[in-house]
Amino acid sequence: MVIYGLNTTPLRTEPLLGVPCPSCATPNKLQVSIAGRYAHAYWIPFFPFGKIATASCTHCGLSLQGKALPEAAQEQARDLKKQTSLPLWTWSGMGLLAAGLLWASIAGRHHAQAEAGYLAAPHPGDIYTVRANDKATDYSLLKVVDVKGKTVDVVANEYQIDNSHPLDELNSPAKYSKTPYPLTQFELQIMKNKGQLTSVDRPEE
Ligand SMILES: [Zn+2]
Repeated sequence: MVIYGLNTTPLRTEPLLGVPCPSCATPNKLQVSIAGRYAHAYWIPFFPFGKIATASCTHCGLSLQGKALPEAAQEQARDLKKQTSLPLWTWSGMGLLAAGLLWASIAGRHHAQAEAGYLAAPHPGDIYTVRANDKATDYSLLKVVDVKGKTVDVVANEYQIDNSHPLDELNSPAKYSKTPYPLTQFELQIMKNKGQLTSVDRPEE
């Protein structure tokens, strides 16, 4: 369940001079308060969502909001609203989200660079996650057993599973074929470009 909604936070309060209370008629007892409204998710403020002016009488306790404010108080309330800005913390959630996305993008780029490096300079023990084509949802593994110049010898895993990260489940020696076959770096690059080779892992690192 996602818990979200609007919260308010008090920002400032000023006396409404010269405006008598519409209920008890006491002069100079009205004050106007500006509250900031913000959207939250799980109580983390995400972004500001406007401001609300409330007029209240310190004498009789009357409280009026927005358009219900006395005519004479409307302009002062509007000015005060304009002069009051919402604190930056009302953007906290967006900040966290942006930081998270930035981190994921940096981590993703780092991972892609590492994979490109593994593919360009293969080591025995490297494991390629592969599938029949870029639409297939069944994945299997190829393990590099030897590197000879621009060619690697791989053994194919004899299982495939419906999981794009099959490493944990399939990577045990008994599950691989005993018969290696060669693949050139060019072929591997084509498989990667076609979405057949989806991941390169170097388990000892
Ligand atoms: Zn009053």
